Amino acid sequence: MPTTRDKMTKQRCRVRILSDYCKSCGLCVAVCPRGALYIADVLNSKGVRPVAFLDGAECTGCCNCAVMCPDAAIEIVFDEE
Ligand code: SF4
Ligand code: SF4
Repeated sequence: MPTTRDKMTKQRCRVRILSDYCKSCGLCVAVCPRGALYIADVLNSKGVRPVAFLDGAECTGCCNCAVMCPDAAIEIVFDEE
């Protein structure tokens, strides 16, 4: 029977950014231990540059960004293999 740790190592996570909720405060960028987030060079419906996930970056699933975001603009989705 798999332990909790075994199960966690089989999980993969995805970062879902709700771009139109983002106000470009940069708090999530500051707390990501992998440097996986950046302020994109586009405008969202609020007229500000939203956060985006860096191509090729590795997300640990720590959820720092989602917890830090004051506008609930980031969700971490875990997929089991
Ligand atoms: S969950 Fe953690 S590692 Fe992944 S993007 Fe957010 S802060 Fe970075
Ligand atoms: S913390 Fe939330 S509102 Fe601020 S830049 Fe990140 S996603 Fe956007």
